Amino acid sequence: MLQKSELVAHPHRGGAALCALGPIGPEYHFHSFPQRRISPCMRLKIQIFVSVLCLVIIGEGGRFAVAQERRRTDAYLQGMFERLNAERFGGELHATELHWADLPSDRVGQTSAFSDGTFLIKIDRDYHFLDDAELQDTITHESCHVATWEVDSNPHGPAFQACMRK
Ligand SMILES: [Zn+2]
Repeated sequence: MLQKSELVAHPHRGGAALCALGPIGPEYHFHSFPQRRISPCMRLKIQIFVSVLCLVIIGEGGRFAVAQERRRTDAYLQGMFERLNAERFGGELHATELHWADLPSDRVGQTSAFSDGTFLIKIDRDYHFLDDAELQDTITHESCHVATWEVDSNPHGPAFQACMRK
């Protein structure tokens, strides 16, 4: 049988700071909670852990939603295109505007040319892009149409394939 003094001597090993938060002293611990139950100290730690976990989940969910929203702007598409143009095409692509748009269900992106030599790339707003990499793949595909416009009779012909392999 444990003596009361032994429990008081080391009541909360490793958790003194956490346990000091509540009105839980060694006396309370000793008398109110038999050993087979979760101690109030452990309970407090679990509550704090669950609270922190909830905040982390809410925070991550929020961050994901914000990233999704940011991705949904035309400026985001344009920025991605300008980066690709600089890094992959040496900045030589013709001036191109990018917009989110409602495309037919069989396509994710679409490129069109204007008579003044500029281009328009539309990206389907309903398509669920898993991440930036997938979105960038689509913009790369459409950028290769800009780069190889009317080079081959088949828009996905050899020139386009070579562009995609670059
Ligand atoms: Zn295509």
